[in-house]
Amino acid sequence: MTTNIEPIEEEKAKSLNFIEQAVSEDLAAGKNGGRLNTRFPPEPNGYLHIGHAKAICMDFGIAEKFGGTCNLRFDDTNPAKEGTEYVDAIKEDIKWLGFDWGDRLYYASDYFQKLWDLAIRLIKEGYAYVDEQTSEQIAAQKGTPTQPGTPSPYRDRPIEETLDLFERMNKGEFEEGSMVLRAKIDMASPNMHFRDPIMYRIIKYPHHRTGTTWNVYPMYDYAHGQSDFFEGVTHSICTLEFEVHRPLYNWFIDLIADETYRPRQMEFNRLNLTYTVMSKRKLLQLVQEGLVCGWDDPRMPTICGLRRRGYTPESIRAFVDKIGYTKYDGLISVGLLEHSIREDLNKNATRVSAVINPVKLIITNYPEGEVEYVDMDNNPEQENAGTHKMPFTRELYIEREDFMEDAPKKFFRMTPGKEVRLKGAYIVKCTGCKYDSEGKLEEVYCEYDPLTRSGMPESARKVKGTLHWVSAQYNQEIEVRLYDRLFMVENPAEEKEKDFRELLNPDSLITVKGYAEQYLAETAKVGNRYQFQRIGYFCVDKDSCPGKLVFNRTVSLKDGYKAQ
Ligand code: ATP
Ligand code: MG
Repeated sequence: MTTNIEPIEEEKAKSLNFIEQAVSEDLAAGKNGGRLNTRFPPEPNGYLHIGHAKAICMDFGIAEKFGGTCNLRFDDTNPAKEGTEYVDAIKEDIKWLGFDWGDRLYYASDYFQKLWDLAIRLIKEGYAYVDEQTSEQIAAQKGTPTQPGTPSPYRDRPIEETLDLFERMNKGEFEEGSMVLRAKIDMASPNMHFRDPIMYRIIKYPHHRTGTTWNVYPMYDYAHGQSDFFEGVTHSICTLEFEVHRPLYNWFIDLIADETYRPRQMEFNRLNLTYTVMSKRKLLQLVQEGLVCGWDDPRMPTICGLRRRGYTPESIRAFVDKIGYTKYDGLISVGLLEHSIREDLNKNATRVSAVINPVKLIITNYPEGEVEYVDMDNNPEQENAGTHKMPFTRELYIEREDFMEDAPKKFFRMTPGKEVRLKGAYIVKCTGCKYDSEGKLEEVYCEYDPLTRSGMPESARKVKGTLHWVSAQYNQEIEVRLYDRLFMVENPAEEKEKDFRELLNPDSLITVKGYAEQYLAETAKVGNRYQFQRIGYFCVDKDSCPGKLVFNRTVSLKDGYKAQ
């Protein structure tokens, strides 16, 4: 078979995911006048999480890729749970991820009047009725997928009666829960969503944008598709749980669309990540009950939590790229997310020395009071990243676990009788140690070889271990927050027997005091990221203030590092 597609175009087509494929086909077929307009529709009832990042990368990313536009639309249809704090945070997070909605910022509440007008039309055409039953009664009549539901006794009430009641519902004459507006579709449909879905309910709570204008608010299924239509959205991309809603989405669209334009709903698999929860309800509970220290707690899977933890927008986007989009729900290892930030920071983070579990090392043959400034690489992964100076003195700090008195053969760190290199400085030979009255290691002793200073010929001598260190005299005390997984089990959402809060990892945060080289203190600004040599990647936390430097561990150097 011959084809007139250029090889390069063919390559491009192959690398498209199934949503991009379908969108490019729609564009090629000239649907909707060849326009592409997506939307990202968060409900402002919580902060965005890494799952939303996946949706954002799809909605904004596909628009970028095919020269279309993406709207940001707040799905603000439940005033009791929503607010401007969330609106602001969501905007900030999308921008931080590197996406821009330009002048296309919308709210479902912009359409309350239009939605109302359309509801009135549907009532007049016999497509909707006010049901005065309780939600329990309505649920009891739903039936099952194999058994038809029972029609409400109000289903065939006169149109005038429904019109009157709906108006009065909105005037505030009735209590919340006393009646709803339902679409009149098919109580026997095999698709449960067609069994007279609720279109409006009464909520008597001021809306953050429309105040007390409305006492009835549209339900998602009704508001969403119509808002898409009002905005000119061509592709309404969402997660798989909405697949079963699609026929209803189309049913509502059929009432208003014509052959020149109709939005199309498409679904992809949502992101689930190991050792965390992604439900906004649960995340809100963690925040409200003080089980974490806010939405931006660095253990949270929220975008602001990841940002505070030290993640970069690039690493999150690289992660989303890696996991891709399919039609199958699954559970992605958090290790993959950590891998993405490690790759990024390995390339980009400045190397510094910090000791986070310090013990004193005394170089007994080094002159007291002497200071030498040795050169340390800023980043060996980058050309021209340069070096900085670090003071070397008679007394240093090293990591406690870098010393062992009775060490096995393969222990290539500090142990009596053996040589080890102090990074960027000298080769030293360990001569002994001292314990305090409780048997805790207090000091380690060694002797240096003056001929082995870094750069001198003797420094090329073969020694297996290289340790990082910080001067005990010239340093900056730091607080270091070591984070581990928030939950003890891989998939907290699956543990139905237990409340998810019982599954929290009690050791998810361990705070230690350490010492860092002064260069760090001179350059540290909130959000700055560093590699602490041999330990991991850390960033400056917002709790830092003059005289107090606080670091979050973003991720360990290698997979599997545990907080001690
Ligand atoms: P809830 O937890 O209450 O179901 P939600 O997380 O779905 O809420 P929305 O604000 O409605 O919250 O989500 C906005 C968009 O983000 C939706 O299009 C939704 O499909 C998408 N989204 C939400 N969670 C994920 C996820 N884990 N993976 C991918 N996309 C997601
Ligand atoms: Mg949802």
